[in-house]
Amino acid sequence: MVFTNKYRDLKDKIDSLYFLFWSNCIPVKGFQRSIVYDIFRGRYILTSNLFVDIYKEYSNYPIGKIKELTGHKYDRGIQKFYTFFVDNDYGIYTDMPETFPALSISHEMPYPITNALLDINTNDLKYDIFHVLEMLSDISVNAIEIRDYGNMNLNFIKQILNKTDKSSIEYIEIFTNYSKKNKKSSFFFLEKNNRIRNIFFYLSPYNDHIKFNEDNKANVVFSKKKIDYKNECGQITGLNFRVNNFLFTESCSYNNCLHKKISISSKGTFVNCPSLQQEFGNVNKMTSKDLLNIVNNNDFRKYWNISKDKIDVCKDCEYRYMCLDCRCFIKDPGNIYSQPAKCSYNPYICKWQGEEGYVPVEECGTYGKETGFVPDEIKIAKLNQKIWEE
Ligand code: SF4
Ligand code: SF4
Repeated sequence: MVFTNKYRDLKDKIDSLYFLFWSNCIPVKGFQRSIVYDIFRGRYILTSNLFVDIYKEYSNYPIGKIKELTGHKYDRGIQKFYTFFVDNDYGIYTDMPETFPALSISHEMPYPITNALLDINTNDLKYDIFHVLEMLSDISVNAIEIRDYGNMNLNFIKQILNKTDKSSIEYIEIFTNYSKKNKKSSFFFLEKNNRIRNIFFYLSPYNDHIKFNEDNKANVVFSKKKIDYKNECGQITGLNFRVNNFLFTESCSYNNCLHKKISISSKGTFVNCPSLQQEFGNVNKMTSKDLLNIVNNNDFRKYWNISKDKIDVCKDCEYRYMCLDCRCFIKDPGNIYSQPAKCSYNPYICKWQGEEGYVPVEECGTYGKETGFVPDEIKIAKLNQKIWEE
């Protein structure tokens, strides 16, 4: 039986019950604290490492036995932990724990490539993007992002829609610069589209946002902002975190930016990411068979298996399965396991740059080419002590 009641209703029998997280609510430990990820409902809660350790070690025991096994040192804390997660619908009390097996976190996708990033300059085209879209559909690519350095006009957007109609490409995001010809009233052709999710026009004279009816997921955003794709790519901030099943399982085993990704640079060269130096030919004369051959090349896949658990510092970070990695801008370009350079979070003291008490990761340990980053527990304890005292 499952009990989702409040603790006060179960008080008399609580010690005979088991506490379990729902199988989609998964605790992930960081160096200093943990997060419970709800990968089906896209939410998360920060919590303490101590109680996550107790939960993991004693999940086969009823609550009363756990209190006994931990020497009754944490009885109140353990109960508070369980009550909090049951009240927030992250877990349950049950007398049948065997009926709640853990969720598989293996990440199997039948397609050779799942997403593509196409850089282009529509003011000075160097490759045939429509030929590329055809090839991508031939190999069942599902999502594309187009970053235009020019000013994409409506006709071009309509051609993209025509080309991808009935294709495998179901998710299209376009970033481009404002063009006077793209009047707000001209976007109603997107009403019937269900492939384009977002179009961003930068350097617009105004800020605006067009949304369509409820069934249509498209957004058209006009922004006065200037976009610098190269500098903005790989920026790690809490605003980019996403909690979902796909990202979680992919991040556990693979590189969550470059795995099953291809990119085309604005020159038309085939690359894993537009900021990586290694090029794999020009797309203009390629067929989908050539494209598959490149994708199957070990050199092309060299970053694909670098999961967050293998990356310096990230492996100690509680956000590691919701945070997109970057293998191009890294702190030590000579070490492919180095921490993303554009990360401003320090998981050893749980502070973002700009927050009171923040110090860079480098002050929390030592770095060596052979050893990678080695946290210094004494230094970290002192820093945390100072933060708590302030
Ligand atoms: S250390 Fe930074 S880049 Fe690494 S997982 Fe944490 S937030 Fe992301
Ligand atoms: S590896 Fe870095 S630069 Fe390349 S696409 Fe990913 S985030 Fe962007």
